[in-house]
Amino acid sequence: MNRFKKRILLLGLVLAVAGITYYGYIRRSACIVQPKTYTKTIYSFLGAPGSGKGTLAEQLVKDLGFKVVSTGNLCREEIAQGTEKGKMIAEYTRSARLVPDEVISEMLENWLNQQKGDQPIILDGYPRTKEQAKILAHLLKTKFPDYRFRVISLDIDDFEKIVRRMAGRLVCENKQCQTTTHVSLLKEPNKFICEKCGSRLIRREDDREEIVRKRLADFVKNNNEIVAFYKEAGIPVESIDVSNATPESTLEAFKRII
Ligand code: ADP
Repeated sequence: MNRFKKRILLLGLVLAVAGITYYGYIRRSACIVQPKTYTKTIYSFLGAPGSGKGTLAEQLVKDLGFKVVSTGNLCREEIAQGTEKGKMIAEYTRSARLVPDEVISEMLENWLNQQKGDQPIILDGYPRTKEQAKILAHLLKTKFPDYRFRVISLDIDDFEKIVRRMAGRLVCENKQCQTTTHVSLLKEPNKFICEKCGSRLIRREDDREEIVRKRLADFVKNNNEIVAFYKEAGIPVESIDVSNATPESTLEAFKRII
């Protein structure tokens, strides 16, 4: 073979290798799935009463500008207004029974209707029943054209910790504020004053020990059903272990998973 033929052959070989490599690259890039971006993220916080859902939500509002709706607070606001609906709701909350699904879902829907902007939304304390989980799926689909839904569960290994924690829980009596704190966190131990708005801090009637135990038992039953519902629907329930957590460590754990 003369030198000219050898060069042509070499050139052909180089071109063939380049062609194959390029073809492979095109095929691979066509297969890469671009991560989808969503205009709105909605988080549902699951967790036993006293697991710290409200505290985490408050921190996320302050730190990251999230919006939060606590269905418990919606109930207390309605009660404070003294409406007929408020009186009916009070019958349930006083004995720590769940407000009927349709009533609470309508209140949530009204709140969602008022929301503008694309900040993430936290649903603190909703859904609390399997029926509410179903209603929520429908609500989100109709309200938001493009959303991502994530379920975050604050898990605690020992409910006795919750009973102790709730025995010291305090809440601001100002219905516009409703900040929660704990006696152990007060700057001045005997001054039950809200740091945020200066109103009085009080104990919630349903934080009494026997009521807390009933709330925990109800929570376990309903939560198992909700988790099973999401499992079946293929929606992951993302857990954060808060058994020995502080508000700060819970916030850090949340930031790591978002
Ligand atoms: P906790 O989580 O400590 O039970 P909340 O402040 O979330 O307290 O709720 C207080 C009360 O409001 C509940 O005991 C219940 O009566 C009512 N409530 C709140 N959220 C719901 C809900 N999603 N479904 C039915 N009732 C609710």
